[in-house]
Amino acid sequence: MYVKPKTLNEAVSLLASTGGQILAGGTDFYPALGEQLPHGNVVDITALDEIRGISIQSDHVRIGGLTTWTEVIRTPLPHCFDALKAAAREVGSVQIQNRGTVAGNLCNASPAADGVPPLLALDAEVELVSAAGRRRVPLGQFLTGNRKTVRQPHEVLAAVLVPRRLENAASAFVKLGARKYLVISISMVAAVVQANSSGNVAEAHIAVGSCSATARRLFELEKDLIGVPATAGIGDAVTAGHLSPLSPIDDVRATAEYRRDASLSLVRRALEACVGRL
Ligand SMILES: Cc1cc2nc3c(=O)[nH]c(=O)nc-3n(C[C@H](O)[C@H](O)[C@H](O)COP(=O)(O)OP(=O)(O)OC[C@H]3O[C@@H](n4cnc5c(N)ncnc54)[C@H](O)[C@@H]3O)c2cc1C
Repeated sequence: MYVKPKTLNEAVSLLASTGGQILAGGTDFYPALGEQLPHGNVVDITALDEIRGISIQSDHVRIGGLTTWTEVIRTPLPHCFDALKAAAREVGSVQIQNRGTVAGNLCNASPAADGVPPLLALDAEVELVSAAGRRRVPLGQFLTGNRKTVRQPHEVLAAVLVPRRLENAASAFVKLGARKYLVISISMVAAVVQANSSGNVAEAHIAVGSCSATARRLFELEKDLIGVPATAGIGDAVTAGHLSPLSPIDDVRATAEYRRDASLSLVRRALEACVGRL
């Protein structure tokens, strides 16, 4: 059965009573089916206008669960969103960006999902809604493995919530693929850097994707960067040891060794890009 509810309440009631797979932009949903038809019900959520778009609230920015990558690119947002906007421009092609949603990218939970590192670096949370109520989960806890999340089948990801605490920080996203366009990454890095009044790093957040089952924050590096001059050359503070939380694999796109080596350069580049924007 195919259903297209008009309200979030209707959607979660249907999911609770009849179950079903959620369909948003369909850019991961349909390719995953291959030649098969969907099993069970399909709950098309694309008419839920109440979870579309981006709004700036008092302490966070709310990215509705139906917000597309194109909307992320076109909405004026604080500086700290530059990395997310850069990632949005790298998701597939313009046609994919017009259909594909941020929430779909997170729920699909690919290790190579471009939206994850920028949102992890921003300490984003997701809001999950079901007939039983609403809960918030930090993105780092929402993603539990390759294509695995803590979302229950009857829950809709209604919004991504980004705290505004670091909204004036500089941010950058760098992605390495085998070619420039329409490519799944070999590694990707998002960084957010806030400087203090002396021009040193007050806070830095760095997340690396495509190098472990889920993107990882480099917390030791983040600690070691505090107090380092937020100027060109900041990349020299990064060592290979800082990448130890990563567990890259060999696959058709690259070897684990290459991924580790490339990630070191990408982390350095992302930090240099951030301080160039302060
Ligand atoms: C040609 C091509 C190129 C691509 N390139 C890239 C790329 O470069 N980088 C990248 O990261 N991705 C890429 N993708 C993957 C895809 O476009 C993105 O992951 C996109 O953001 C998925 O969003 P969607 O709305 O299309 O999700 P859907 O396909 O509609 O859904 C994906 C999954 O999430 C679930 N879901 C969707 N929305 C919700 C919700 N609100 N609540 C609960 N569950 C939900 C669905 O049930 C499904 O399991 C590409 C895809 C294609 C076809």
